[in-house]
Amino acid sequence: MAKIIDGKKISAAVREDIKGRTAEFIAETGVTPGLAVVIVGDDPASKVYVRNKKLGCEGVGFYSVVCEMPADTTQSELMAKLEELKGDDKIHGILVQLPLPKHLDEKAVLEAIPPEKDVDAFHVVNTGKIMLGDYSFLPCTPAGVMKLLEYENIEVSGKECVVVGRSNIVGKPMAMLLLHANGTVTVCHSRTRDLAEVTRRADILVVAIGKADFITGDMVKDGAVVIDVGMNRRTDGKLTGDVDYVSVEPKASAITPVPGGVGPMTITMLLENTLTAAKQSIK
Ligand code: NDP
Repeated sequence: MAKIIDGKKISAAVREDIKGRTAEFIAETGVTPGLAVVIVGDDPASKVYVRNKKLGCEGVGFYSVVCEMPADTTQSELMAKLEELKGDDKIHGILVQLPLPKHLDEKAVLEAIPPEKDVDAFHVVNTGKIMLGDYSFLPCTPAGVMKLLEYENIEVSGKECVVVGRSNIVGKPMAMLLLHANGTVTVCHSRTRDLAEVTRRADILVVAIGKADFITGDMVKDGAVVIDVGMNRRTDGKLTGDVDYVSVEPKASAITPVPGGVGPMTITMLLENTLTAAKQSIK
């Protein structure tokens, strides 16, 4: 039977640690770390994520603001808002909730966030630093996965690591973090020829494709550590991962559930980045 990696419990422990370090930082400097979250439009899922980010900030003692903008916000209005936040000394981290409405240029928006306030680590400067292994901010979801492995004492060095998915926000930075931790990393995607042949080689398998229950037991090696980043909404409204938990769990040595695995770690790492941004702002 696999060890269930409890993301909620680990996330709570990491947030307690962040809360303690935040209190110390405020006592030493008089500066309260501040996060601004910009949301354009009224996508219900995005609203839930934004609310959770605000609650996360409150839980560790940060200052936070949510800037709600209507769905018909123009590019220049959004840029003006970012310009205002850029110059606001109380704000150390700026995050624009994605996806943006189709008429807005997402790339230009992400590039308009100054790298030193880019707590999502999506700016080209920060993605470049991730590549070099010399980063100011950790890419939140992949960093959350690394934190789970660290808490569970799962060694990455020398292991066969397979990442399924190559998006800029999960798959690619995930591969980089595993590589920096000395894993032997293979990245798979929709053009990978024999996916199961590759995934069966993995000692550590990280799946981020956005397809419900896609990875089945026959695609996993006995004793593998399986990390399911996927978050898919079933027709009955329930959340499910990219891994077919029922067939994979008996083969794995450790596995993350969905919900309650990787999900809670993403906001936790965002909080970590915001504290880092505040610290760097006074250097
Ligand atoms: P994207 O849609 O941006 O990328 C999906 C990736 O999966 C692509 O690289 C794609 O390949 C690959 N892929 C799709 N189908 C297959 C297939 N049949 N075989 C192999 N590879 C395939 O997704 P994201 O990376 O943004 O998100 C992935 C999942 O993670 C989603 O469920 C999302 O909701 C979840 N997520 C969870 C987070 C969390 O906090 N837990 C945070 C962010 C995302 P190709 O490049 O060739 O098209």
